[in-house]
Amino acid sequence: MARTAVSGRLATRLRWQAAALIERREESPTAQTLAFDLPGWAGHLPGQHVDVRLTAEDGYSTQRSYSIASAPDADRVELTVQRVPDGEVSPYLADDLMVGDAVEIRGPVGGWFVWRPEQLEPVLLIAGGSGVVPLMSMIRVRGMIGSRVPFRLLYSVRDPADRLYGPELDRGAPGLDTTWVYTRGTPDDWARPAGRLTPDDLVRWGWPADFEPTCYVCGPTGFVEAAAGMLVALGHHPDRIRTERFGPSGG
Ligand SMILES: Cc1cc2nc3c(=O)[nH]c(=O)nc-3n(C[C@H](O)[C@H](O)[C@H](O)COP(=O)(O)OP(=O)(O)OC[C@H]3O[C@@H](n4cnc5c(N)ncnc54)[C@H](O)[C@@H]3O)c2cc1C
Repeated sequence: MARTAVSGRLATRLRWQAAALIERREESPTAQTLAFDLPGWAGHLPGQHVDVRLTAEDGYSTQRSYSIASAPDADRVELTVQRVPDGEVSPYLADDLMVGDAVEIRGPVGGWFVWRPEQLEPVLLIAGGSGVVPLMSMIRVRGMIGSRVPFRLLYSVRDPADRLYGPELDRGAPGLDTTWVYTRGTPDDWARPAGRLTPDDLVRWGWPADFEPTCYVCGPTGFVEAAAGMLVALGHHPDRIRTERFGPSGG
């Protein structure tokens, strides 16, 4: 009986499902949030991603992974796609897919890079660029269930125009602290000079290692490797550092 239930859920995750775009929202000049209708969606854990498949009229097909940005909400799933210049899929999703158009979606995928509401330890979220997407789902679920688990987010972007979810993060929530790290251009009168994330940022704005937070690091490969290395050097146990790499480059 239990085995049947498990294989049923697995089959649902492996199955491609048509998903119509029902809404799009600009998050930044280069990123769009896309809301899809997925009838019968079984829900997801914050941090999981889906596979998105596009198929051309001549039968050519390609797929990419996108993290889920939203908290579970009936049949609605939101993704945020950052346009990669010269990319094959992301410019189409970010610029061309219109409300009413459909793609195919499979998932949810992933069981390690997730935050479960029963986790009670402090959480340190470290994002580079669009790597904030799965972390935003964790923040939204935390808010949705009224969790008081302390969350700290360090979010690295090139400049203020690149911020995703800026107004929502600036509104904040009890027990959620957000620190913006600008690498190229800062707002006026910003105390921290522009520059990449440093160990000093993690000491000032993260949690001390002896608080034993679970750390979630997501973004371009180079960013993730650098941030995870700093956390280890600061004494965080590797078992409490969970990483998700979005792309092959450090850009
Ligand atoms: C688990 C997972 C979750 C992801 N979640 C998101 C998400 O929530 N939002 C999002 O926008 N993207 C996300 N990505 C990245 C996404 O899957 C694609 O890689 C990205 O959209 C680029 O696809 P493309 O077809 O446009 O580019 P491609 O045609 O695949 O690549 C074009 C060029 O860009 C380079 N490139 C590819 N991806 C990146 C990248 N991420 N950063 C910098 N350079 C890159 C390639 O090396 C190549 O030179 C995720 C990736 C993974 C593995």
